[in-house]
Amino acid sequence: KQAKQLRVGVATYDSSRDASSTDHLALLAELRDALTADDQIVLALQPAVDLASGAPVGVEALTRWRHPRRGPLSPAVFIAAVEHSELLGPFTRYVLDRSLAAAAGWIAADIDVPVSVNVSARSLLDPTFPGQVADALRRHVVPARHLVLEITETVAISDLEIVDEVLAALRETGVQLSVDDFGTGFSSLAFLTRVAIDELKVDRSFVDDMIDSPAAEAVVRGAVELGGRLHARVVAEGVETAEQRAALLALGCVSAQGYHFCQPMPPDKIVGTLHRLGEAATQAKIVPLRAD
Ligand code: C2E
Ligand code: MG
Ligand code: MG
Ligand code: MG
Repeated sequence: KQAKQLRVGVATYDSSRDASSTDHLALLAELRDALTADDQIVLALQPAVDLASGAPVGVEALTRWRHPRRGPLSPAVFIAAVEHSELLGPFTRYVLDRSLAAAAGWIAADIDVPVSVNVSARSLLDPTFPGQVADALRRHVVPARHLVLEITETVAISDLEIVDEVLAALRETGVQLSVDDFGTGFSSLAFLTRVAIDELKVDRSFVDDMIDSPAAEAVVRGAVELGGRLHARVVAEGVETAEQRAALLALGCVSAQGYHFCQPMPPDKIVGTLHRLGEAATQAKIVPLRAD
C-alpha cells in the first residue's frame, strides 16, 4: 500500500512546490479510488448568464470531492496535485464524462446551452486527448458545439509543437475553446495567437477590483475589446454585486458568471434553475416593451 501511494505522484509531481507533499501523495492514492467509487467526485454546476437579460448562456462544471473522511474538498485542495500526477488523464476523462451526461440531459429537456469543462493546460501535452474528447461526445451523443473546454494555464508549457497539434485537433472536433482566468496565466496573450478561441473568461480578480481600481477596470475594458476583435465571447468571472454588473454592462461586456446571479449547484437542481433564468429573462424583456 505504501509503495503504491508513493508511485502515484513520483513521476512528475515536484515536492518542493508544497510543504505537505506527503499529504498530496496520500490524497492522490485516495483520488484514484474515488474515480472508480460512485459519487465521491461530484459536479457543482454554475450557469453563466447574459448580463443584460439574465438569460443562461452556458453552464460551467466545477468539481467537488465528497471525501469519506476529510469531508467535502474544493478543487483548490486537489487540482494542483492532480495536474502534476499521472491521474490527470483519468480525472479529466471522468469530469468530461459526467459533464457530457449532464449536457445530454439538457438537450433532452430542450435547453440549448453548452457545458463548460475545465481543462489543465497540461492536457494539451497529451496527443490522445482530442481523440478522447471526440469519443466522449460520440458516447453521449452530444454535438461538439455543446462542449466548451476552459483552458487554465497554471504551469508554463514548454513543448509548444505538441500543444499546437493538440489545439488544432481539438478545433477539428468542433468543440469550443475558452481561455480561463484571462489576464493571470503564464502567457495567455501568446496563447491567443496559437489558436482561434471562442471565449475569454476575465479573471475574477479584475472584476473584484474594477470599481475601485482604474487599472483593473482598464484590464477588463481591454479584455472586452480584445474579445470583440477576436470574435470571442467575453465572460466576466466572479460577479458578486449589482454595481459590478452595471459597470460591466457599461463597458460592453456581454456575459458573466458569479454569486450575484447563481451559486454553483448540484446537477439535480440545474434544469429547474435554467428554466427559471430563461423565463425571468423573457419576462424582463416584455416589461420595457410595454412601458414604451
Ligand atoms: P475557475 O474555472 O476559474 O472557476 C471559477 C471559480 O470561482 C469556482 O471555484 C467557482 O465556484 C468560483 N466562483 C464563481 N462565482 C464566484 C463569485 O461570485 N465569487 C467568488 N468568490 N467565487 C466565485 P471552485 O469551484 O473552487 O474552482 C476553483 C478552480 O479549480 C476553478 O477555477 C478551476 O480552475 C479549477 N477546477 C474546478 N474543477 C475543475 C476540474 O474539473 N478540472 C480542472 N482541471 N480544474 C478544475
Ligand atoms: Mg473555469
Ligand atoms: Mg480554470
Ligand atoms: Mg476562472
